[in-house]
Amino acid sequence: MSHDVHIIGGGLAGSEAAWQLAKRGFKVRLSEMRGGGDSTPAHNGTGLAELVCSNSFRSDDHEKNAVGLLHHEMRGLDSLVMSAAAKAEVPAGSALAVDRDVFSAEVEERLSALPNLTIVRERIDHLPEAGLTIVATGPLTAAALAESIGTATGADSLAFFDAIAPIVYRDSVNMDVCWMASRWDKGETKDYINCPMNHEQYLAFHAALLAGEKTEFREWEANTPYFEGCMPIEVMAARGEDTLRFGPMKPVGLDNPHDATPEFPKGRWPYAVVQLRQDNKLGTLWNMVGFQTKLKHAEQVRLFRTIPGLENAEFARLGGLHRNTFLNSPELLDRQLRLKSAPHIRFAGQITGCEGYVESSAVGLLAGLMTAAELGGREWISPPRTTALGALLSHITGDAEADSYQPMNVNFGLFPPPPEDVKKKQRKEAYTARAKADFVPWKASL
Ligand SMILES: Cc1cc2nc3c(=O)[nH]c(=O)nc-3n(C[C@H](O)[C@H](O)[C@H](O)COP(=O)(O)OP(=O)(O)OC[C@H]3O[C@@H](n4cnc5c(N)ncnc54)[C@H](O)[C@@H]3O)c2cc1C
Repeated sequence: MSHDVHIIGGGLAGSEAAWQLAKRGFKVRLSEMRGGGDSTPAHNGTGLAELVCSNSFRSDDHEKNAVGLLHHEMRGLDSLVMSAAAKAEVPAGSALAVDRDVFSAEVEERLSALPNLTIVRERIDHLPEAGLTIVATGPLTAAALAESIGTATGADSLAFFDAIAPIVYRDSVNMDVCWMASRWDKGETKDYINCPMNHEQYLAFHAALLAGEKTEFREWEANTPYFEGCMPIEVMAARGEDTLRFGPMKPVGLDNPHDATPEFPKGRWPYAVVQLRQDNKLGTLWNMVGFQTKLKHAEQVRLFRTIPGLENAEFARLGGLHRNTFLNSPELLDRQLRLKSAPHIRFAGQITGCEGYVESSAVGLLAGLMTAAELGGREWISPPRTTALGALLSHITGDAEADSYQPMNVNFGLFPPPPEDVKKKQRKEAYTARAKADFVPWKASL
């Protein structure tokens, strides 16, 4: 065999695992089907680590936020995803957002420069019978391999759906109506384009969302649950008249300078707001934050052009619906992400049931480190549960209830609680301070 480990899938998790292994000197074969004539329903191009929907890695606050803490730990482990994100960063308030093309190109360039990594554009249809393997084929694993995984696990992989948000060309937005600002003027820059709605406009928009023509579910899709973090806007709207105003259309902290009064010289808050966030480095593309949808394309164009400021909006991409496949990991995988019934195979990324770009990359990073330990004949010590990496890994590999297992973002609910005498207001800082203290000796043990 010409390689030490075969990684299947060159998305976020597979790229991160390949980086961690190849830079340690192990020979890696990375098989990615895009670029070899295949694709998935959500990917647009052939680049490694393509971001299929939002361009955000979410909060970068490592003192009060669990995903920010995960960023911090990944940076501490020389994460390729985190360093490529730094290179591709675009303004997004306290969040870490990137130009997706710059990001993917950077990942690909860094991996291509590693002499002992071979990137092969090929689709793999069967789980290899021997040889250390990492399967990181993501929520849109190609059908034949998904079937092979189903056969090997003896359990049904669950398929369900989530939606992607539209992207608007910046120069088609009417800035006489919209304005740039971050909520509560946080950060030094004004990172979002805000499209204001009054009460009447909001009610009309809400009603139109409910009435709008949706992509029909096929019979086998009918009772599949959504990915909570990516719920279609019209599904959220159906939960109640004000649900959107407390969610993606929240107006609080957004003074509209086009609506200034003597009493509110900086401007009044609108009744509701649609926010656009920069999607590429050039600043030419902006995504509609939280506006993932399964409305039909023509309906999206018609309806979204009723949003004040978007009357003449041109769309670089419209929203859509997608499949998501993941394993019942707490039952099927051991604490090192290995298939209990075939321990030469590890799983990584979203297919393990973690949720989100950062989490998928983090699980890829861990799979890379675990495989490196195995190849190097070293004992693997798991990250402490008090760290973000440890909390996420423990959840996936056994702490979660197998019966009701659903994809999960990293959050403080997965961590052991801090001592009870820590005041409520200081609990987030207590989680992160403890994680940082426990991370250091664990890292030294690697
Ligand atoms: C439509 C959609 C929207 C999403 N939106 C967001 C979002 O906005 N924010 C967020 O944080 N998370 C989002 N997610 C969730 C998730 O974080 C991403 O899907 C993430 O890319 C998962 O990383 P991954 O490495 O596990 O899989 P991927 O990044 O999908 O990588 C898997 C790779 O494997 C390849 N592949 C598949 N089958 C084979 C095969 N048989 N042989 C060879 N190669 C194969 C694919 O081409 C792909 O490149 C979304 C998921 C979907 C499906």
